[in-house]
Amino acid sequence: MQTFSTILFDLDDTLFHFGACWEKGMQYTIRTHSLTADLDENAVLEALRRHGDQLWIDVIARKYDFTQYRQLRLQRALADFQRSIELEEADDFQHMYAQACMDAVEPHAVVQQAVDQLASRFRLGIVTNGPADMAFIKLSRLGLSAYFPDERVFLSERIGYHKPDLRIFQTVLKHLDLKPEEVLFVGDNWEADVAGPIEAGMSAVWINPNGLTAETHHRPLAVIKRVEELLDVVAE
Ligand SMILES: [Mg+2]
Repeated sequence: MQTFSTILFDLDDTLFHFGACWEKGMQYTIRTHSLTADLDENAVLEALRRHGDQLWIDVIARKYDFTQYRQLRLQRALADFQRSIELEEADDFQHMYAQACMDAVEPHAVVQQAVDQLASRFRLGIVTNGPADMAFIKLSRLGLSAYFPDERVFLSERIGYHKPDLRIFQTVLKHLDLKPEEVLFVGDNWEADVAGPIEAGMSAVWINPNGLTAETHHRPLAVIKRVEELLDVVAE
């Protein structure tokens, strides 16, 4: 077993089930907000997911920032319902969603214990594709802030590159003064959290609860279903 000094985590759907919080937050907002309250909740949710997935590709390619992504996602979703909206209205919807989504983020004792044990042996950090405004609230609500001090939380919005762009990993390594061989990267997205880090010279563990098939030839150190299983992977 290779000796690592540092474990870098993805955040969403790695340290907590973001997908469920996203859905709860969106469902509440669609039901409540005047832009969508009279529409079919599931149909709007599906449209937001579909347009969001399409737009995410442009975000990763740095065509849109996160504010534009959120505005365009709602504009395009509502265009499917013959409804055109102003940017301010989209921002208001986003604000309500963000609040509801963050309210749905809850601490998980098993994850907290696992992170606590890992923190006694490794330096821990986070590298997340996302806007700066929500990551720290998520960590606080998860009860994990103490394990991930601000200087070890790397946000793609601030760095200017998104995973799997090698430049985000190189920037993180430089900031932490680390060689790639010292780092184990852990996350749920094959391209962003496994293929990218391995290309950058790190090792990776794939969190794959749904049994997805690997998209490239890269070889992770292990494939696990939940983050707490990482304790077995790095067992001495
Ligand atoms: Mg993720």
